[in-house]
Amino acid sequence: MNLRKYILSILWIFCALSPGFAAQKPLARKGVLDLRGNSFSTNIELKGQWRFYWKELLKPSQELQQKGRMVDFPFRWTDYQINGKTLPSFGYASYELQVLLDKNAPALRLQMPDVYSAYHLYINGELALQDGTVSEQAKGFIPHWEVKFLNIKPGTDTLNFMLQIANFAHKKGGMTSSMVLGDKNKVGLERRRIEAIDLLLTGCLIMGGFFFLGLYLLGNRDKAILLFSLYSIVYSYRIIGTDNYVLHTLIPDVSWYLTLRLEYLSLFLGICLFGLYTKALYPEDSSKWFSNSVTAICLSFCTATLLLPPLYFTQLINPFLLVTVLCLVYIPYVYTKAYKKGRPGAVYALASCIALMSVFAISLLNYYLLLPKLQLTSFLGYVAFFFLQSLVLSHRVSFQLKKAREEAELGLIAKSEFLSTMSHEIRTPLNAVIGMSHLLLQKNPREDQRKELDVMLFSANNLLAIVNDILDYNKIEAGKITFEHIEMDLASIARNIVSGLQSAAQDRNIELRLHIDPNLKHKLMGDPTRTSQIITNLVHNAIKFTLEGYVALNICLREQTDTHAKLSVEVKDTGIGISPEKQKLIFERFTQADSSTSRGFGGTGLGLAICKKLLELQQSSLQLVSEPGKGANFFFIQEFEKSTKTVEQQTMENKTPGEADKPFTGISILLVEDNAMNVLVAQNFLQRWGAKVDVAVNGMEAVEKLMPEKHRLILMDLNMPVMDGYEAAVKIRKLGIRTPILALTANLPHEIEERALRSGINDIVVKPFLPDELYRKVLHHINIAE
Ligand code: ADP
Repeated sequence: MNLRKYILSILWIFCALSPGFAAQKPLARKGVLDLRGNSFSTNIELKGQWRFYWKELLKPSQELQQKGRMVDFPFRWTDYQINGKTLPSFGYASYELQVLLDKNAPALRLQMPDVYSAYHLYINGELALQDGTVSEQAKGFIPHWEVKFLNIKPGTDTLNFMLQIANFAHKKGGMTSSMVLGDKNKVGLERRRIEAIDLLLTGCLIMGGFFFLGLYLLGNRDKAILLFSLYSIVYSYRIIGTDNYVLHTLIPDVSWYLTLRLEYLSLFLGICLFGLYTKALYPEDSSKWFSNSVTAICLSFCTATLLLPPLYFTQLINPFLLVTVLCLVYIPYVYTKAYKKGRPGAVYALASCIALMSVFAISLLNYYLLLPKLQLTSFLGYVAFFFLQSLVLSHRVSFQLKKAREEAELGLIAKSEFLSTMSHEIRTPLNAVIGMSHLLLQKNPREDQRKELDVMLFSANNLLAIVNDILDYNKIEAGKITFEHIEMDLASIARNIVSGLQSAAQDRNIELRLHIDPNLKHKLMGDPTRTSQIITNLVHNAIKFTLEGYVALNICLREQTDTHAKLSVEVKDTGIGISPEKQKLIFERFTQADSSTSRGFGGTGLGLAICKKLLELQQSSLQLVSEPGKGANFFFIQEFEKSTKTVEQQTMENKTPGEADKPFTGISILLVEDNAMNVLVAQNFLQRWGAKVDVAVNGMEAVEKLMPEKHRLILMDLNMPVMDGYEAAVKIRKLGIRTPILALTANLPHEIEERALRSGINDIVVKPFLPDELYRKVLHHINIAE
């Protein structure tokens, strides 16, 4: 079958499916339409041979003139030639037809479409309908478009139609659509159906348009979304303000000049916006040149519509048809390309395009009178088009959100990597500073030197606390924090904190009180490091913000069972206090109650945020009662599992050796560290405790230097050149050597724990190390190895 036959047969199927199109239709012959014997089961279009009188506005009378030339109605005179000359756009004419009816025909109604551009319709000599004002000259002529209806008097057997049409505005003159005569109910019903569908579609488009506009304005500043929303709004005008002119029925008095301009503007602007939208949607697949040309043409046509009289801009429709056809080829091409390249939502875009093409094909074929309107099919096509386009945009928005989330996640990873690198870099030199200060302090310095060393140690510890705070917060945010569940002696933790901060309190002339409930006899199960961190922070803050009076740390046993104890920990001070408005804010990170006052006291504003989160993660909460000027009371209530051991059953393990003790005498340790300063610090401590230290500067050297029968312990840095600590540990374990390996690292334990254990490392000491901790861990592992 060749292409032409194929297309024709498709058209034929379309026609056959459309009601009323396939039925044999009565046609007027020589100015007479005989409808006698017609049951009006379908509406009749008053088509066929009408009599036409150019440049005559016939006087209405009962009788017909029967003189005019025969033309095929509906008839536009601008397509007609008289004496070899095409008739001009501007002019006036009369049309005449006689319709013969049965006297007992059903109640009938006439539907009169809009004409170019005004008419008066006389039936049997009387003015029956009028739209605009007809005149023989431009003066007095008023164009107007509205679909009108007329009920035919029952019992009428002859209808002598005399239709006067005048046009002094539009490019076209005469009539394009048919007048329809039919059963009164059917004609009305048909029109209501048309209006309902048009209104429904307009509503959908406007709502969709405003929805996307809102989306654009309130959040996602995506140009594609803006363009689509504008396109939807502009196109909604085309549904209601053109073709069936439902808007004109709703607002009959609206100016013809205004609505005509809107009709043309919405067409030119609509195509322009859709072209731009396609480009914004898939810029890599669109041609800039094509898109810019279409935009330029559309905008110049819009300008012409705004500035020129209707006679001129109504002529733009034919050239514009070419632009439309080009777009109809170009846009599916872009979508197909995007689809092939797997762009987000392109499959919906392509499907929507097919829907739109069908609608345009129907409307084009209808324009050339090859198809009936098929309004319902077009409606479904439009709905499918807008629905699928919405899917394209939804897909796009969710794709962008996904991308943004991935980027944010990558950012978070980068941030935490950065912090951990920074921490490593800051902690490594701090290790040397703190370690050296400790060592120097133990070497009986002069009194003035001791003071200077104290300041140095204090500042280094401060810096370490800040780095730790930042890292802690980062860790909490990333959800990476874990809590130990080991035995702890809360009373001794409290005592240690108070004695550690005693000198700071004395410096400020503040009394530091400690009250521990005497009924607290058991050790508790919990995380001693974190608990100590929270209490230290609160007491430290209290001392910092108290100028006179006291700071009290009270630990009270609230309730206890055989297995559990509920305690309240309270830190009370007589300091500057916190105003009610600031009380909520200070638990947020980086906030301080009053930056000017707080600056005087120092701090990062992270401490309370960390305490609060640490407690929340342990099912407790940090509370505050405070009044400005009267001090603050921070407290929390926490339930702990009780250990079987009582507080008195202390082991000696925690005791750090004194000046004279040499507990490691006769023990050899292999220290693997590339940083000379750190070697010095660790070596100094270990030798002070009596150990003999061999040094290797990287993993490779460690493997070579290690003597299992001599070295009782390996202290291994992890980040080293040539061979790092992990690799060295793996190598050592592969050789079957079981000597305990203690990692020395500036990273936080949780970051490396898993890898370290997998490599055969037994334990971790975090740099900068506290002499106590180093001592305890070394002792512990030497004891186990024995
Ligand atoms: P930092 O102390 O490092 O600034 P924090 O998070 O520990 O950060 O504290 C936040 C703010 O809460 C402090 O800057 C201070 O304004 C206020 N604050 C904390 N504790 C007290 C207190 N005991 N008395 C008065 N103000 C306090």
